[in-house]
Amino acid sequence: EQRKLQRLKFSPTQTLDGTPIGLYANIELPEDAGAALAAGVVGIGLFRTEFLYMHNQHVLPDEEEQFDAYRRVIEAMKGLPVTIRTIDVGADKSLDMREVEDTVNPALGLRAIRWSLSEPQMFLTQLRAILRASAFGPVKLLIPMLAHAQEIAQTLDLLEKAKGQCDEAGLVYSSELKLGAMIEIPAAALAVQLFLKHFDFLSIGTNDLIQYTLAIDRSDSTVAHLYDPLHPAVLHLIAHTLRQAKQAGVSVSVCGEMAGDPAFTRLLLGMGLTEFSTHPSQLLVVKQEILRAHLPTLEIAVKEVLAAYAPTELQAALRRLAQV
Ligand code: PEP
Ligand code: MG
Repeated sequence: EQRKLQRLKFSPTQTLDGTPIGLYANIELPEDAGAALAAGVVGIGLFRTEFLYMHNQHVLPDEEEQFDAYRRVIEAMKGLPVTIRTIDVGADKSLDMREVEDTVNPALGLRAIRWSLSEPQMFLTQLRAILRASAFGPVKLLIPMLAHAQEIAQTLDLLEKAKGQCDEAGLVYSSELKLGAMIEIPAAALAVQLFLKHFDFLSIGTNDLIQYTLAIDRSDSTVAHLYDPLHPAVLHLIAHTLRQAKQAGVSVSVCGEMAGDPAFTRLLLGMGLTEFSTHPSQLLVVKQEILRAHLPTLEIAVKEVLAAYAPTELQAALRRLAQV
């Protein structure tokens, strides 16, 4: 079975009806880039930069060190796009300079972009390091946990400021840098129109989208049985985001765990997803599902799934989707 999968590695990723699908890798360390490239991906869909403090005694490295780490990944990917997500700290991932442990609801607190906007000097440092790295290959800058128009505006302002600082210092960056937003808060999915005019691409973070939609702490084992990617509310938020973005001509990927689970591949394809980003170990099993999929048929079957609310109906619709 494993050998059969390996044979799929360098064949083009497309559905039976010939629709090309992009397979990207999620990585957490600069060293992971090699494995991603070897797995036959068309780029990095999510480079989580949290390693910057986790492997550094919880102190953020300076601009040079960050620039070096980003550049290493970009060079390793040999011209393929690298999606670099700005730091997502807070909640379970604390920085010692902030007493996250003392907050009652860290997942609802100063996390990800909220933290970055509260520490503009550190955010600017990271933005400059990413901008400078973009001179070495195609970079897509991705912002986590946005929900409010005001956060979008502040982020865009700081990005302009970081570009200005680079210009002043004579530091080069690519004018082709793409800007994207994670859609991982239900408010962002429902009001995705807020995002479409400001961003070149979107990436749906299903791990957090499920957590926040269902009010289930993703790290709390006592409620893990209620963490359900197939809850109709979750499915509708994903489908809504994909539909609206497609209408606006903005590309969307899914980079949460759902994208790497072959049980959900047909469902996501039928909703219109054309870009999957997942841990390299899951790429080939997902690819196998893609190669067997006929989109027009899946689209019809997925409409039935989205119309089902009662668990028995939903299970029946999912069974049909698995069989068409
Ligand atoms: C997500 O929330 O789905 C995601 C990809 O981001 P993280 O798991 O790093 O929060
Ligand atoms: Mg997330």
